[in-house]
Amino acid sequence: MNTAPAAARPPRARAEIDLAAVRDNVRALRARAAGAELMAVVKSDGYGHGALPCARAARQAGAAWLGTATPEEALALRAAGDTGPVLAWLWTPGGPWERAIAANIDVSASARWALTEITAAARATGRTARVHLKADTGLGRNGCQPADWPDLLAAARAAEAEGTVRVTGIWSHFACADEPGHPSIAAQLAAYREALDAAERAGLRPEVRHLANSPATLTLPESHYDLVRTGVSVYGLSPSPELGTPQDFGLRPAMTLSADLASVKRVPGGHGVSYGHAYTTPGDTTLALVPVGYADGVPRHASGSGPVLVAGKWRTIAGRVAMDQFVVDLGGDAARAGDEAVLFGPGDRGEPTAEDWARAVGTIGYEIVTRVGARVPRVHVGEVTDGGGQGGGEGVGEAGAGRGARPAQGGRT
Ligand SMILES: *Cc1c(COP(=O)(O)O)cnc(C)c1O
Repeated sequence: MNTAPAAARPPRARAEIDLAAVRDNVRALRARAAGAELMAVVKSDGYGHGALPCARAARQAGAAWLGTATPEEALALRAAGDTGPVLAWLWTPGGPWERAIAANIDVSASARWALTEITAAARATGRTARVHLKADTGLGRNGCQPADWPDLLAAARAAEAEGTVRVTGIWSHFACADEPGHPSIAAQLAAYREALDAAERAGLRPEVRHLANSPATLTLPESHYDLVRTGVSVYGLSPSPELGTPQDFGLRPAMTLSADLASVKRVPGGHGVSYGHAYTTPGDTTLALVPVGYADGVPRHASGSGPVLVAGKWRTIAGRVAMDQFVVDLGGDAARAGDEAVLFGPGDRGEPTAEDWARAVGTIGYEIVTRVGARVPRVHVGEVTDGGGQGGGEGVGEAGAGRGARPAQGGRT
């Protein structure tokens, strides 16, 4: 393995992604769910971290599976050369089933209409579709209701008999796994067991049963089954501050969002700052201009509350966040144009974290990292090249041992 040369530092702003942290996080999560395989969820451009480099890093650290919401996201992984197991779960009628099946992407069905489209696409491609059937065990979002489950199972079994479908997964998703002890957790576990029993009675033998997201992976071992689907924790965020800090779980935030000051100037007291003059300087002071705004993912709700490390101290955004920029009041401290402002990072250089931003604006860390805009270049550091493809990686076979780890590609008709 070789460490890639350090990337050039883009001017203005950048989101630096530490791929060593991604690998370490995957290893920490695999240790937490030692009896299961791990799916690294890389939807929405890897929660804003860059899906492809993060997918490679996750594979290198032993993620047997990748997961995406949309089929387009899964197809992009294939286009980039990933050959390992990938599941895409968010489908709408007329979706690119044929392309997904031809690309050996596992697809998901929550209703009969999806299964009907899948079998038609399988016939058209001449391949057997690999299908995960999703049960609604209480989330009330996607997934098949218990009343409709026997019918979906029977249809899937019939499709298996005709060779168009292989049911590779039976799965579901939690509503409140980030609230330990919430009564819905036990209810969903029980409903999931019933959904599995019904599948078994219908003659289905899935390769993987999976239910756990990050909070369940970290706190609910009985939910791990054969595969855990970890997203936010792969990127080093805790799924909820009530559960613990990233450090509590052996995780390290991978993203650092920083910008170079575009202007630093002295202004007199009583000076209005930014649109609406929501802030007025209390006295003679120094204002620094940070050249990122809501178009870059800085929430406009962070006006007057978002924390930023500038000139060695935490500052609070002065006045409104504009589309491309915001201002901080340095209170007379010295700084120069070009000095770095760190919005958030792992926190070990004294900078705020994504969780600090989430608290400041009344959202969750997931949203803070995911919303970083396309205008902010992602700089990936700590990438290792192992000379191989992305279907392998350390310990994949070991993680799959006893569950019949399947070949990375093809192997079926
Ligand atoms: C996003 C998502 C996950 C990952 O959730 P995290 O809380 O980020 O680990 C898992 N499963 C499904 C169905 C998802 O949509």
